Amino acid sequence: MQTDKCISFYLKNGMVKGHFCRLTRSITNALENHQYPNKIKAILAEMTAMSQCFTMDIKGESQATMQLMGTSPVKLALTNSLDSQSFRCCATFDQNFNVDIKNLSLPKIFGQGGKLVFTVDFEKQHYQTIVELNAHSLQECFQHYFTQSQQIQTIVLICSDVKNNETESAAFLLQRMPAASNSQEEENDDLWHEISCFSATIKPYELLSTGPEMEKLLDLVFKDLQPVVSRETNLSFRCTCSKEKIMNILKSFEAAENQDESTEIICEYCHSKYVIDKNEIDP
Ligand SMILES: [Zn+2]
Repeated sequence: MQTDKCISFYLKNGMVKGHFCRLTRSITNALENHQYPNKIKAILAEMTAMSQCFTMDIKGESQATMQLMGTSPVKLALTNSLDSQSFRCCATFDQNFNVDIKNLSLPKIFGQGGKLVFTVDFEKQHYQTIVELNAHSLQECFQHYFTQSQQIQTIVLICSDVKNNETESAAFLLQRMPAASNSQEEENDDLWHEISCFSATIKPYELLSTGPEMEKLLDLVFKDLQPVVSRETNLSFRCTCSKEKIMNILKSFEAAENQDESTEIICEYCHSKYVIDKNEIDP
């Protein structure tokens, strides 16, 4: 059974559009080389599941980057959806902060001026949305994001579980589509209320690998609303770093001339180590 995937679906002939992403092995692979506190792993895992849901709506060649930016103790949590099938993620934080962030709210974890920045690069265009990080949890933060940026009724459920170096997460998104007429819109009000009530019964363990198969869960929760899966993509961790790319970055630094005989660079995402000889940059 494929556990790492994202599915797109419709309810009630397209009145509601949804995405459901569940990550287990892929997010564990993405985080296993990092010595991050479990709370940071949980945030990255939830952001990644959410980001992959977003990419399901983007057709063609695209890249999406979701960043939670702050000051202290966590400066940055970043997930990079390379396409609709692969991603990588990383974080930077004060190594010696001695506060237990496990039960802290997002504004406390990211400190003053925290914000969510979501960027999509699509067909050489660059789209960016920024929202302030006022919400207590990531789930509330995205709810706020949709209200502000898309202005359509949205239900967001996000959860994660981190234990013994195994990480998993899930994101579940429902969006109400505009109706063709006013009378249809009124009918949809009732349906949306019904769907909201059904969604509220979904437990975090059901969204994660401890729950039923993803399509099965949709059938169980929305059985009278004819859920139809329209797209499915398998997901994996992937990094696109290379010696050539690192060398190009190093070349762009003016101070390159003053560098030591060789420079050791470790990729923030996958921890691959590159040793670049001075002669290779400045032959
Ligand atoms: Zn890498």
